[in-house]
Amino acid sequence: MSPPDFVTRFAPSPTGYLHRGHAFSALTAFHAARDAGGRFCLRIEDIDATRCRPEYETAIYEDLAWLGLAWEQPVRRQSQHMADYGAALRDLSERGLIYRCFRTRREVAEAIERAPHGAMEAFRGAPLPPDEEARRVEAGEAYAWRLSLDAADRALGGFAHLTFDERGEGPGGERGTIQARPELGGDVVLARKDVGVAYHLAVVVDDALQGVTEVIRGRDLFEATHVQRLLQALLALPTPGYRHHRLLAGPDGKRYAKRDRAQTLRELRASGMTADELRGDLGF
Ligand code: GLU
Repeated sequence: MSPPDFVTRFAPSPTGYLHRGHAFSALTAFHAARDAGGRFCLRIEDIDATRCRPEYETAIYEDLAWLGLAWEQPVRRQSQHMADYGAALRDLSERGLIYRCFRTRREVAEAIERAPHGAMEAFRGAPLPPDEEARRVEAGEAYAWRLSLDAADRALGGFAHLTFDERGEGPGGERGTIQARPELGGDVVLARKDVGVAYHLAVVVDDALQGVTEVIRGRDLFEATHVQRLLQALLALPTPGYRHHRLLAGPDGKRYAKRDRAQTLRELRASGMTADELRGDLGF
């Protein structure tokens, strides 16, 4: 019997230069694929044209190649696949699972504060009455599409059967079969006003289209997995296994972030560090 296919991916957004944390994530996924005799894909998450820049994308290819990684071609660039996300959105819309939300960011924040459980509560809204909605659409008002957790709950008969397999570890030490709690995310935005799609939707559609069997990424995205598991169920997409890995921290104990210029792979390289040294530092 041939071994089951193993496909994983690294999915950076070209909104800045890659840093040590990204290198750790990319190496973790790359080595997992190699150890399993599987495939390693790269995906450029560039739906937000206002924040993504071509020079950051070029730098991603350069930095990963410098690190010694190789990935399958063609690279999937989200900005070239808006039609795929649009189709998923239409499907959800036709089934009454999403609604138009005209609120501004501030109005959403205020609604969360007013919610019974206080500021920790994720946003839950509701569709507007049809005549008001029609009037606002007609008037050209901008809106986002939000997932309706209530409608999703009805469509699936509850969320109790939604689980995913954690093969790494969540931020609270979670492993094994995890009960998905999509309510953590609230009525998430699936299509932003300005962009026409949003992170969670693009990720689940792409993971399915790229045949990803194992999502390997940082623990900071553990909560996102709960939301994405629900979207997979609603869109009848396969559920990959998940391996959330630890987050690297700098000497000050803080996580690396795009604003830490000195820890970008370009700066490390410019300061004379070799890829071998960096891989060694990161435990590879
Ligand atoms: N593009 C996301 C990021 O750079 C990662 C998405 C994912 O791995 O699912 O944080």
